[in-house]
Amino acid sequence: MGNTKKMFAQSYLDTCATESTESSDASGAFSYSTAPLDPSTDDPIVLNVFFWQVQKPDGSYGWGEFSEDKVLECIAKLNIFFNQYNIFFKYRGYDSFTTPANLPLVKYELVDTNGDGIPDTYQCVNYPGQYDPDGYGNVGRCQIGQFFNYAANIHKTPNAINIYVPYGSEFGGAARGVGSDMIILKADKLNSVTTTHEMGHALGLYHTRSKTNGCSNKEHTTRIATPPPCNQNDDYNAPCADDNVVDTAANTCYYHFDNGVGFCPYVNENCEYFGTEKDEDEVQYQIFPEDVKNAMSDAYCFDCIEDYLTPGQVRRMREKIGAYQPLINATTTVASLYEPYKGEYYVVGPLPPHYIPPHFQPGFEYRFVECRCECPEPADYNDISFYSNNNTILLQIDKNEQDYSTIVHPNHSAILIKHEIGSVFYPQARRCYDNYNRKPTDGRITRFNDNVFNTNITVTPKDSLGINNPTLINTLDPGLYKIEENYQDGSTQQTVIFKEAN
Ligand SMILES: [Zn+2]
Repeated sequence: MGNTKKMFAQSYLDTCATESTESSDASGAFSYSTAPLDPSTDDPIVLNVFFWQVQKPDGSYGWGEFSEDKVLECIAKLNIFFNQYNIFFKYRGYDSFTTPANLPLVKYELVDTNGDGIPDTYQCVNYPGQYDPDGYGNVGRCQIGQFFNYAANIHKTPNAINIYVPYGSEFGGAARGVGSDMIILKADKLNSVTTTHEMGHALGLYHTRSKTNGCSNKEHTTRIATPPPCNQNDDYNAPCADDNVVDTAANTCYYHFDNGVGFCPYVNENCEYFGTEKDEDEVQYQIFPEDVKNAMSDAYCFDCIEDYLTPGQVRRMREKIGAYQPLINATTTVASLYEPYKGEYYVVGPLPPHYIPPHFQPGFEYRFVECRCECPEPADYNDISFYSNNNTILLQIDKNEQDYSTIVHPNHSAILIKHEIGSVFYPQARRCYDNYNRKPTDGRITRFNDNVFNTNITVTPKDSLGINNPTLINTLDPGLYKIEENYQDGSTQQTVIFKEAN
């Protein structure tokens, strides 16, 4: 069986519910440039993210098991996609809340609006005197604005993008507005293209078709530019019509609703647009598959929407982050990415019971590399005076690593985030942690002679002096090793090292 592609979107349960109003960009706020990212001037931008589990009024959660790993999947997803634009997300934790039991019941229902006896249009229907049993645990289409107002007052972390995670919602996801620090993403959308789409809204992107959540033919097809200022009535109005982005094609909307059923009349299974629709000036659209697949499109058919944005959209996001106060407030330092989100560094004395080592967020390619310094606590981010060797890797983590418990900072290593756009991250390793306050009593070194994990090994026992030798790793020949250390309290520590030829 092949991959069955959906011709129709399942329903409005998967579509975006972000609302925004028609308004023009502040003068001078955006460049409307479509220049690709320039690492020499487009510095890394780091945004704090905080998550909230939203429970029913009775405290239950109608979806599997909610855990920190679930929200970390979202952090990984965001970083894996947005890092190519030098945009990073710093995980700041999560909390839970139970929603009020007295929310008035409002349902999103198909209603007969033309009197022919056949329900044709979805509308919000009030049920006076009844309460919503699910509360915001399952956010309704008719509750979105009300939810954001409620959460903004009592469940919002300042200086962060807040992502609210109900177990269900009558939509795929929603940002509070275009440019916002609040997003609703239900549990099963946390690691999906909806994540990209709603973060795109939060960072200032409109739908490619319209400033609102409806359809619009106001953006004109032509891409033959005329000088600014842009006017809606100009032939060339791409910088100021609909999404205000020049390198996304004008389109009316790909997704249509007919008697409550959603479909894409002019998109085929290859995500090719084959319609003959025209803009308001009667000029036929020029739409390419990339436009249909754009993360901010509404082609909710054939799984067309992808993790894809144009250079112009990337420019707009980066400029919005630098100009919109809630996003400026949510911005943090690159150094924060080198701080653990959980656990602590051992400094001195016996290891505390239930000790949790320092954990780092997923979504990056990490290399924890050999380092040496007087660093019983990790060196400051800005202190790069220590010795380190990128060719000796104590721990390597792929950006797609799914066992988050393995992403810990090993002793005697510094953190290398292998992000090679610009030189802020790579090749400088940071925060050498080289602690000898808890000395192993003895140990052994196992060399894998074929440089793979098999039984062709050479084992060298080490006494106290040998295992505590600060240049132990340095003295090893290139190859694959396992170092085992035994401690007085009966605990052991294993480190796998791959040492490349210099
Ligand atoms: Zn949207």
